[in-house]
Amino acid sequence: MLGLVTTQGATPRRRGRTWGGLLVPLSCPGCGAVDEVVCPACRDRLLRGPLLRRPLADGTTVVASAAWRGPARRLVVAAKESGRRDVGVVLARAVARAVVEVAWGPGTGPHDPPLLLVAPPVRLVSVLRRGARPTPDLAEDAARLLRAAGAQVQAVQLLRHTRAVADQGGLDREERADNLAGAFETSSRRIGSAGVRRSSAVVVVDDVVTTGATVQAVAAALREGGLKVLGAGVVASA
Ligand SMILES: [Zn+2]
Repeated sequence: MLGLVTTQGATPRRRGRTWGGLLVPLSCPGCGAVDEVVCPACRDRLLRGPLLRRPLADGTTVVASAAWRGPARRLVVAAKESGRRDVGVVLARAVARAVVEVAWGPGTGPHDPPLLLVAPPVRLVSVLRRGARPTPDLAEDAARLLRAAGAQVQAVQLLRHTRAVADQGGLDREERADNLAGAFETSSRRIGSAGVRRSSAVVVVDDVVTTGATVQAVAAALREGGLKVLGAGVVASA
């Protein structure tokens, strides 16, 4: 529940938005706990639970840090809709641990560094509407975390739209796949720049996988472009 407290006497934990001299404390979007950013319990559920592994119809393996329900779902929605940076950082950690499993987990083969993280291309209209590009940001934040841990990882926006696509919301599984089939292609301008090679190993990054249509369309475009798709690392999977 969101309450109001005066800024006077606010402790450092009572971080929030100042509004008319009052401090509106942030609550944990995962559970609603007041006075927290993302509370330790929701953080643990996202970052310490067992990883979920899910093969898609095209053979691409998705590794998710959590199931698409409860706090994980609410945190993804909060990051998308409110653009809360603190939530974005926790989601990036969730993606980073899924990426580690995809790229270096049991059963993975060798690949030359750097590993590339590629998010689905973002439509300009969404950027304008939300004022942010959450999924590419997620890839960049996850890459930064992995580099800090010593891995050679780079986030690259390798894809662009080949045509206009409808918003995926409200479409069923088949419609989503049709909507995105052949909708993306690799940008040759970006391949060859900054150590990005045609044969580079790539992990697809996204916040949530439901039908798998987006991840499969992204993976198809990357494979078409000659890149080696190791799988997808996401925050949550349905
Ligand atoms: Zn919480």
